[in-house]
Amino acid sequence: MKILLKNITENLMNYEGSIECDNLINNGDEIDFIEPMKFIGTLKKGMDFVEISGKVISKFTTNCHLCGEKTEKELEFEIFETYRREPGEEEYPLVGDEIDFDDMILENFRLNLPVKILCKDDCKGICTKCGKNLNVEKCNCSNIEKTNPAFDVLNKLIK
Ligand SMILES: [Zn+2]
Ligand SMILES: [Zn+2]
Repeated sequence: MKILLKNITENLMNYEGSIECDNLINNGDEIDFIEPMKFIGTLKKGMDFVEISGKVISKFTTNCHLCGEKTEKELEFEIFETYRREPGEEEYPLVGDEIDFDDMILENFRLNLPVKILCKDDCKGICTKCGKNLNVEKCNCSNIEKTNPAFDVLNKLIK
């Protein structure tokens, strides 16, 4: 998503764009974008700065942290960033006559990704003993250690 400064024709202008991004690895998770991310918001131009503010919508697939199955996710997040000729802390440099927002948006995307992405809130994960996907089938293993007879009683109660 690039814009020439001269095309920001108003002090505050509505702006929409899309961000083509390659698939990426985030903390070991493979993120495959299903479609370009979308930006909807505003650009504000001053003498030596441009502010971008709005929301970004992304759709991607990745593997569930618990069961490992491919899962489709939508992530929406807000951005508010400033590009300035002489950038302050946490600002981006405004160089030349054009701004390319892609890297900044990708950085924000990474920051907004949940640490653990699950296929669903109540994903049951994989049995650590037999490896079955417990969302799909039950297994007969018990994950409670059997060394203490008290656990056997608990086990029966749970069943
Ligand atoms: Zn899962
Ligand atoms: Zn099992």
